[in-house]
Amino acid sequence: MKTFTKGFTIALLLGLGFSANAQKHVHGEGELLIAQQGNVLQMQFIIPAADALGFEHQVASSTDKNAIDVLAQQLKNSSHAIDIKGQCILQSTENSLAHSHDEHADLHSHDHHNVEATYNFNCKTPVRGFTVTLFKLMPSLNALNVQWISNTGQGSTEATRNNPVISWQS
Ligand SMILES: [Zn+2]
Repeated sequence: MKTFTKGFTIALLLGLGFSANAQKHVHGEGELLIAQQGNVLQMQFIIPAADALGFEHQVASSTDKNAIDVLAQQLKNSSHAIDIKGQCILQSTENSLAHSHDEHADLHSHDHHNVEATYNFNCKTPVRGFTVTLFKLMPSLNALNVQWISNTGQGSTEATRNNPVISWQS
């Protein structure tokens, strides 16, 4: 694997095959992709909808719709996903729930569904890790398979409900 010196993004990570296997997820286990370049820190969470929302079926009721609205709002606040201890400022965030109201909803036509949330931070200095807080928001989520890439290295690790601290060396 070559060393990336500039211009890498989560999209590139996904293109490299780091990605979660969307239709073969295991309930209770999510994925977290992290890309750091200098002061820019990007991350993408890919969580089974069964853990994020409590269901993966087609949106069937106003209760389902409400659950989506609530989670979509919660995920906009990055503190529900990670604790980065004031080192970084959130620049932008997006999640797949924001688009799932309409007829092209993610929550139908397949057996399994994921909820995706991305965060783009600007950090004073490159960070070396953080604590995942998403386990508090999603009680059935037990583990995250973490893959990271930075200017100087890449690797994988795991965060769990009992050990939610992620750190990486570069
Ligand atoms: Zn599933």
